[in-house]
Amino acid sequence: MVCFCFLVDQKRKIKGSKPAAGTCSRCGCGARIADMKTSTRFCLIPIYCRSWRAIICCFCGSVLKSYR
Ligand SMILES: [Zn+2]
Repeated sequence: MVCFCFLVDQKRKIKGSKPAAGTCSRCGCGARIADMKTSTRFCLIPIYCRSWRAIICCFCGSVLKSYR
């Protein structure tokens, strides 16, 4: 499975964010609404890309809520 993990990787990028109401359930820091972009690559070739919006923690980066 190590080989599989090496060939396929997924990158999550935050394109922009703005403050949102609410706090993180893990660390209690402020939440932000972020425009995310996830791209999945196989052997360094992008095969799948998707943009989505989520509420994330500005400190630990955990996704608190995601929209489609
Ligand atoms: Zn947090």
